[in-house]
Amino acid sequence: MVGIVLNRTVGIVGGGVTGLIIGIFLAREGFKVSIFEKNKLLSQTSSKTTKLLHGGLRYLENFQIKEVQNGLKDREWWLKNFPKHTNKMQIAMPFKSSKNLNFFKYFIGIKLYEMLAGSKKIGGSKILDISKYDSFDLKEDYSKYISFFDGSMDDEMLGQELINLAKNLNIDIFENHEVKSFDNRGNIDNYKFDKIILSVGPWTEILLEKNKIKPLKKIDFIKGSHLIINREIKNGIMLKGICKKRYIFALPYKKIMLLGTTEERVNSPESPNVETHEIEYLLDSINFYLKDPISKNEIVSSYAGVRPLIKSNKKSFVNSSRDFFIQNEDKLIAIYGGKWTTSPSIAREVVTII
Ligand SMILES: Cc1cc2nc3c(=O)[nH]c(=O)nc-3n(C[C@H](O)[C@H](O)[C@H](O)COP(=O)(O)OP(=O)(O)OC[C@H]3O[C@@H](n4cnc5c(N)ncnc54)[C@H](O)[C@@H]3O)c2cc1C
Repeated sequence: MVGIVLNRTVGIVGGGVTGLIIGIFLAREGFKVSIFEKNKLLSQTSSKTTKLLHGGLRYLENFQIKEVQNGLKDREWWLKNFPKHTNKMQIAMPFKSSKNLNFFKYFIGIKLYEMLAGSKKIGGSKILDISKYDSFDLKEDYSKYISFFDGSMDDEMLGQELINLAKNLNIDIFENHEVKSFDNRGNIDNYKFDKIILSVGPWTEILLEKNKIKPLKKIDFIKGSHLIINREIKNGIMLKGICKKRYIFALPYKKIMLLGTTEERVNSPESPNVETHEIEYLLDSINFYLKDPISKNEIVSSYAGVRPLIKSNKKSFVNSSRDFFIQNEDKLIAIYGGKWTTSPSIAREVVTII
């Protein structure tokens, strides 16, 4: 429903999922929205994800309860509003035995994850014998799975649906338009707006500094790479990588498999590449569990993106928060951090501020 605000103008710099969703929420409230995107809409970080709509089970290890809850609330928003291109997906973690502390820890964690979803729970967790879960053939010493449900998306189709929605709401879209300057008085290049939103993902701090506005947060450029593998997999698996610190996912994707992701600090958000050592890390990590190892020849394609994480004081970024932050200064609102999943939470907060 269109709200009561008529024709107040908002200019959005950055046409990733954050800019698009904020634009859609504001246009529905009656604002006249324009989006300026340097490349094509949704072509940067937003097209490089693991394609999960989730609260992030692994963030519970660091007690990031509020973020997980936000994500679970938004997961439900996506599944409910875009059922054509989103789905619930069963994912399971393999264990050698169910009779140890480690198994118990994950079981409690998954139960807590479900509990935090509350009424927005999308399926029950289960302990399963290895033969009862249709996925890969694991090495003989694995005997049990704990399975749970999360959301997944076809980001290309979902992205197209969002673009169509934006067009139907008469949002003016300027693609291949690199914004050269903006300020906190409502100016973007030669255009004037009542309010400006800077939603440029990993480029936030760089662009604020370039335009002489003091950033209140710093961005940590953390690259993640994925491989598309020519092997059919019916249900998802979540595994601890060989580094023993972080998790990787093997997920069904277009009838074959998506494997990701790595996490490493880079110096810039520009043109991230999938490097040989990342391919080796991902293959070694999954092959650690498989009876029939995956070879490099089975890789169909690969992609890398740079997460727009807010820099913390900690040395290690592995447990960095996926939370977002909003800098609100005169006529400018700048977004830091967030996930694809939580872009509706960001948009709700922006609508409230404006
Ligand atoms: C490896 C990896 C895996 C991930 N997996 C998941 C997942 O499974 N689930 C999930 O919820 N999230 C995931 N994320 C996080 C998610 O991708 C991001 O949080 C989200 O896409 C950020 O969207 P954004 O719009 O803020 O940034 P972007 O998509 O990067 O959009 C910013 C846009 O700003 C544009 N821009 C920059 N400078 C200018 C300028 N001067 N003028 C105009 N435009 C400009 C850029 O071209 C870009 O298109 C993952 C991220 C990575 C990297």
